[in-house]
Parts: sequence; structure tokens; C-alpha cells
Amino acid sequence: MIVLVLNCGSSSLKYQVLDMKSDNDFTLMAKGLVERIGEKVGALTHKVGDGKYSVEMPIPDHTVGIKAVLDLLVSKEHGVLKSLSDIDAVGHRVAHGGEYFKGSALVDDTTEAEIEKLCVLAPLHNPANLLGVRAVKELMPGTPQVTVFDTAFHQTMPDYAYIYPLPYEYYEKYSVRRYGFHGSSHKFVSKRAAEFAGLELENSKIITCHLGNGSSITAVKDGKCIDTSMGFTPQEGVPMGTRSGAIDPTIIPFIAGKEGFGPADVEKMLNKKSGLLGISGVSSDCRDIEEAAANGNVRASLAQNILAYSIKKIVGSYAAALGGVDCIVFTGGIGENSAPTRRDVCDGLEFLGVKINQEVNDATHGKDTMISTPDSKVKVCVIATNEELVIARDTMNIVNNLKK
Ligand code: ADP
Repeated sequence: MIVLVLNCGSSSLKYQVLDMKSDNDFTLMAKGLVERIGEKVGALTHKVGDGKYSVEMPIPDHTVGIKAVLDLLVSKEHGVLKSLSDIDAVGHRVAHGGEYFKGSALVDDTTEAEIEKLCVLAPLHNPANLLGVRAVKELMPGTPQVTVFDTAFHQTMPDYAYIYPLPYEYYEKYSVRRYGFHGSSHKFVSKRAAEFAGLELENSKIITCHLGNGSSITAVKDGKCIDTSMGFTPQEGVPMGTRSGAIDPTIIPFIAGKEGFGPADVEKMLNKKSGLLGISGVSSDCRDIEEAAANGNVRASLAQNILAYSIKKIVGSYAAALGGVDCIVFTGGIGENSAPTRRDVCDGLEFLGVKINQEVNDATHGKDTMISTPDSKVKVCVIATNEELVIARDTMNIVNNLKK
């Protein structure tokens, strides 16, 4: 089954075309990125194997962007398909599934209406995701579409993990609760880590650390999420590239009062000016932080220390929540590539049974690797995440079930 995977943001969209023979037998046929949708000149980068093709053109909206991708996919020069009818299904990443979507869903009128209702909880993301669904409907009528939600994997959390200690009426009236994000990644790496570490997923305690520009950590018991560090929005949890993560909430009105900030300024401070960038004043990018710290920049070192310490604290609390831990997983751009971050997180966790092979850790970049020693009680591994594959798998399985 050929599946087109779409991840639509407000001004960009990423795509992959996968030939899915089964969950684990698949070929990536093409992938790419459309940027600057809605600006004067947009850009499309399309990759097939080692070949890369880039073009600039006006891309006023998502429908035009998706049309440009579809044209490329069947073009003589850069295409990988004979005709668009070769695409059997389209899978979309959708940011927020609220409490309604506990798993991936076939797109129909109800699915669309429910995603629309959830725009209030993800005003930057869900509207863009919906635009993608509607553009495909227009351009490829009759092709089945599936939506895969960043929040769905976390829907198994118990109420005491997702209810905030606020007046209960705000949960009832406004759906204010912990939702969690990066669900497809946590689902993928926890399953893969269990295989990799020789654990039975249904009888395991796994902590997954997805560390990228946005980061979240999840406690996975017997294959199901029981807690996660992102909350009502992707703002909670550990410090990120430019996001603060968890802070004392009363700091917000205090700084707003001092600086004369309105809600938009507060939002900007917490989302765009905090985290690694805010602490270091150097960059939001972990590579730049590592380089600056190595060159003696004290605030870059501080940013590194705060990041590792925050992750370690959550790992420790999730070991308590799980009643132990069999495996700790690192994934995402930082988790897969930053040996110093992994080293500093694990340093001091020996009491839990964590023992790292530092040489293996130092040499590990973006490849599935066991970085703990053979006698480490807790397995620690790096697993390369693949959210697109989760979307393609769910899409294939839901569409195959339709035919039965
Ligand atoms: P996103 O959350 O946008 O998907 P990624 O998962 O791609 O982000 O992660 C981006 C982060 O990964 C950046 O902070 C980047 O510096 C970091 N990163 C990528 N490669 C390396 C590396 N070799 N060493 C340290 N950090 C890295």
C-alpha cells in the first residue's frame, strides 16, 4: 500500500511517500518540505534517495502546496509514481485529539468536525492540519485519509496524572487537563526499545525521553502511557530550545507587571525567548550550546546543566511512578545525538541500576544503540524515532480493516 504522510504546519508542510508492505517491511520512496506558505515566494524541497530538487514559487495556501507536491510525485523528471491513483491512502499528523480521539481515525464528517472543535486547544496547529485534510479531499477525492494524533498515546493516563490541582470546574467547562504530545514518537520508541532490549512490552517499565526543539518525557507501563511531562500545551515539562518548560506560574503575572507585558508578550517570552536560548543568550540549538560551553561560555554551560538536571528529575519521578524502571530511551535530535546530555542525565542514576558505557555513548549518533553496560540493571538505549512510520502504519492498518 502506498501511503502519503502529511505533516501540515501553519506555514509549512512535510511529506513522505512510503510503500508499506507490512508494519516492518516498507520503503521510503520520497520525502520533502514545502516552506513559506502564504508568503510572496514559497519553497519546495523534494528528495528521492540521494537526489534533491528545490524550487521556489508562490505558494499562497496549503492546497497549492499539496498540489505542487502531488505534481512532483508524478512528474517525469523527479516523480516516483505513475499516477496519483497509485496513492492508496493519506495519513495526517494532527496535533490535538483532545479526549475524543484515543487512537487514529479514518477521516469522515464526524472526524473533521471533532478536529475543528479542538482548534480552541491547539489554535496554531489543528487549523493547519485541517487545511491539509481538506486540500487532499479536494485534490484526491475518494482517497481514504487517516488522522494520527500527537495526544492519542497519552489517553491511557489515569485521572490523577492528568487532572491539574485547579478548581475542577475548569476541567469540566474548558477541558483544562494534561494531554501530552509527541505521542507517535513515544509509542514508536517504547515499542522498538522493548524489542531492542529483549523486554516483553506488555510487562515492562520504560521511560522515553524525546528531546528535540520541543521535548517531552513519558512513563510507559506495559506498553501504555501512565504519565507525560508536556501538559495542557507543549509548554510544560523540561526546558526546550526556546520554551521554558515548567515554572512557578506566579512568575508570569510578576514579570508581566514589571515589564508591562500583555498576553501576547507573555506568550512570546515563554514560547520563543526562554529555554536554552533564554538561559544561554547564545542559541536555541543544542549543538551551538555545546560548542559555546566548550569554549568557556558560562551561561551556555548553565543551560546544559539545567537541561540535564531537569530531565534527570523527571526520569527519577517516573521511576517512582512506574515502581521501577527496566529501560530508559533517548530519542529526538538531542536524545539521538547529544552524548553529553545523555551522559549528564544518567550521571547519578547509578542508585537506580543505571550503568553507562561512556565510550559507546560518546560514539552514538542517530542509530539504535544500547549505551548501557551488559551488567546494567536498567537498559539505556538510543532509538531513532520515526513518527512518519507510525502515521503510515496506522493509516495502512485502518484502511486495510475497511476492506475486510
Ligand atoms: P524538532 O523538535 O524540531 O523535531 P529535532 O528532533 O530535529 O527537533 O531536534 C533538534 C535539536 O537536536 C536541536 O537542538 C539540535 O541542536 C539537536 N541536535 C541535532 N544534532 C545534534 C548533534 N549532533 N549534537 C547535539 N545536538 C544535536
